[in-house]
Amino acid sequence: MTTTPAIVTVAITGNVTTKLENPAVPITISEQIESTQGAFEAGATVAHVHVRNDEGRPCSDPDRFAKLQEGLNKYCPGMIVQFSTGARGGKGTERSASLVHRPEMASLSTGSVNLGKVIYDNQADLVDVISAEILKYDIKPEIEVFDLAHLYNAVDLIKRGLVKEPAHVQFVMGIPGAMPAKESVLDFLLSELKEMLPTATWTAAGTGRFSFTCNKWSLSRGGHVRTGLEDNVMIDKGVLAKNNAELVAKTISFMPEFNRHAASVAESREILGLPPLAKSGLVAVA
Ligand code: ZN
Repeated sequence: MTTTPAIVTVAITGNVTTKLENPAVPITISEQIESTQGAFEAGATVAHVHVRNDEGRPCSDPDRFAKLQEGLNKYCPGMIVQFSTGARGGKGTERSASLVHRPEMASLSTGSVNLGKVIYDNQADLVDVISAEILKYDIKPEIEVFDLAHLYNAVDLIKRGLVKEPAHVQFVMGIPGAMPAKESVLDFLLSELKEMLPTATWTAAGTGRFSFTCNKWSLSRGGHVRTGLEDNVMIDKGVLAKNNAELVAKTISFMPEFNRHAASVAESREILGLPPLAKSGLVAVA
C-alpha cells in the first residue's frame, strides 16, 4: 500500500522547559546539536530551535543561533532549520535579529493570547515588522496559530503581501488560556483553512499530554506532526523521555496505522517548497 509522507518537526528545547523537568532538555549549543542529530537520525527533518543564555534562560542572541545553525548543517545534512521568533526570547525586534543568518524557516506568531498566566504578546505592528524581515531574507514562515484570530490575521498578512503563499500553518493546542486540544476545534480550524488558504500545508501540535494525541489527529487528516522536549517531556504517563529522538520515534510509530510515513529530507523540502539543497549550498541532501 502506498503511504503519504508526514513531515516530523522536532522542537528540541523551547523557552520554558528546564532540566528540572527533564535532564535531557538540551540547553547549551553542543547539547542542542547532539540532541538534534539523534532526532534527525530517528526521522525528524525540521528542527524548531530556540537558544538559551549562559544561565539557561531564553534569549535571542543571533550569534548563538548562528552557531547552532552551523552545527546542525554539519551534523544533520539537509535538515531544515527553523528559528523561533517567539515572544519569550526577547523584546521587540530583538526577536527577529537572528534572521540575518537566513535560516530556511522561522516561526511567526500572528497575534496575542494568554498562555497560562502570561500574556504571549504579539502586538500587530511588531507582527508586521517580523513578517517583513522573514520576507526580506526569503525565509519560509511557519505561522503559529494559538487562537482562532491568529488564522485570520495570517490571511490578512498574505493579502497585504507580507507572507507568501503557499503558507505553512501550525495549530497549537492544549495550552491553558489558548485553544483547547479538541478534535472538533481542529476540524473547524481545518475547514476554515481549506476555505481561506486552500494551498496551505499544516501541522497540529499539542502540548504536554496532548502531544501524542494531536500527532494522531494530524496524521489521520493529512497533516504533519511535531514533537520534542519543548512540547512534552514525557514518553509515557509518569515516564520521562530519554531524549528528543525517543519522542520522534514514538510519533513515527503511529504512522503506519494512518498510511503515512516519515517524510525524507527530499520529501519534506518538496512539500514545503524549499530548495532540494540546504541554502548554505555546502551540504548535499542524502
Ligand atoms: Zn518554540
